[in-house]
Amino acid sequence: MSANFELSYTMVIFGGTGDLAHRKLLPAVYNLKHEKMLPEDFAIVAIGRQNKTNDGYREEIYNSIKQFSRLDIDIEIWNSLKNRIYYRRMDFLAAETYQELNKYLSEVDKKHKINGNRMYYMAVAPEYFKSIVENLNSFCMTQKADSWNRVVIEKPFGRDLSSAKYLNDKIVKVFKEENTYRIDHYLGKEMLQNIMVIRFANMLFEPLWNNKYIDHIQISSSETVGVENRGGYYEKAGAMRDMVQSHMLQLLSLIAMEPPNDLETKSIRDEKVKVLKSLRKIKTEAIKENVVRGQYGPSESEDERILGYREEKKVSLDSNTETFVALKINIQNFRWSGVPFYIRTGKRMKKKSTEIIVQFKSMQSILYFEEKEVLPNMLVIKIQPTEGIFLQFNAKEPGTHRNIIPVQMDFCQNCQVGINSPEAYERLLSDVLKGDTTLFTRWDEVEYAWKFVDQILESWNDNDPVFPNYEPGSWGPEGSNMLLQKDVRNWINL
Ligand code: NAD
Repeated sequence: MSANFELSYTMVIFGGTGDLAHRKLLPAVYNLKHEKMLPEDFAIVAIGRQNKTNDGYREEIYNSIKQFSRLDIDIEIWNSLKNRIYYRRMDFLAAETYQELNKYLSEVDKKHKINGNRMYYMAVAPEYFKSIVENLNSFCMTQKADSWNRVVIEKPFGRDLSSAKYLNDKIVKVFKEENTYRIDHYLGKEMLQNIMVIRFANMLFEPLWNNKYIDHIQISSSETVGVENRGGYYEKAGAMRDMVQSHMLQLLSLIAMEPPNDLETKSIRDEKVKVLKSLRKIKTEAIKENVVRGQYGPSESEDERILGYREEKKVSLDSNTETFVALKINIQNFRWSGVPFYIRTGKRMKKKSTEIIVQFKSMQSILYFEEKEVLPNMLVIKIQPTEGIFLQFNAKEPGTHRNIIPVQMDFCQNCQVGINSPEAYERLLSDVLKGDTTLFTRWDEVEYAWKFVDQILESWNDNDPVFPNYEPGSWGPEGSNMLLQKDVRNWINL
């Protein structure tokens, strides 16, 4: 991409000293620069509370890029990037500092020939979103003729429907919906973008993608790590708010949506919203039967002791925050009626992986199926860390017997030499720059996801769970297995 004045912009990162900025945002910017996906004229102004010089901040960012970037650091590229990165000490809650900030940003714009386009990135805790946006507005930093102003809001967007609505009202008063980029970084993952292609570009799958041929669908996202240093945040969130309300329901909507009329942003988002609207409300009395929550305890082996969740930093000793959720969801529409979607997500699990398993129905009990159990077909979409597709079907075992065995076609995208998929944040940042909101969540998606999740959270408030209830390194609490066993099914742990 060559220099393009229209695309010139300044990225203002509120929370430039934080974990997200260091581990994800700046490494993503570096990779975009490396791939020539940034305009010539751009700058970054990182805002934080600590006292630092530009050079001091640049050095820290250099080390973070070295540690977290997908591509190795090339000193020439770094040198051309670093002089465009600025650090600004400021308390972003102090309204009186915004006038100075505005002046500073204008100077940066002038120095780098930037025409006033701004990407305001909220890499801060959600309780600050509203104040920052209102301050930006009070100092006329959000609406300028001949330039765009876009705001990127990190998740979680609210902590329930009413707080999300409140926050949204404040934001869209300042930035219009088309300039509001609610980020769910899962949507930037390569294989998520592939879900629609797999479904709608293959005759092999789309005709079978319904309750006539599919028995059930499992969506799992598991991590082996605990809450690490994010105990303070996690205590207020838990797995339901942190993962299910956002990432897991987004995965579900892509897997279950109807084909859009075209590939326009609105058409795709309209179809995703329809799925979220069709989620069958789980009645209060049925929540215990359909939703399982868990929290990891400690474990001890000869060479290591793993802390239980309640022993983690900034976590209460009698915390009832869930680090695991499994639930059974039904979608009330013609395509999916009768097909359960089992969703689970947890920390300190046996394996790190995110995958979607589509389990097809069994063949009728005739011919080969009369004699012996033959496994049904299964399609696995692997999202991370392995990216790929895996199809299991039946074939004859070589030899003189009539044995049937499951065989697999396994396409691993990121195992191939030369394929180093861009990180989600690279794709998403470049979409903000282009003004493409397709991979960001529209307000009504957030709204319907909260509506579904809120009813469960409310019922949890009424009774205390028996925590901790699963071992680190396991597949979660026993209740999760029972959730499927009741339906004569099992989790498929690949
Ligand atoms: P963080 O606490 O590490 O970073 C926030 C930064 O803002 C800190 O450096 C802090 O010093 C600074 N700050 C706080 N108050 C300030 C003030 N009044 N004035 C100036 N600076 C101030 O948080 P994080 O982990 O980087 O997360 C940021 C946001 O991104 C959160 O909303 C989080 O939920 C979301 N998020 C983070 C991750 C991640 O991997 N860290 C992933 C997904 C979403």
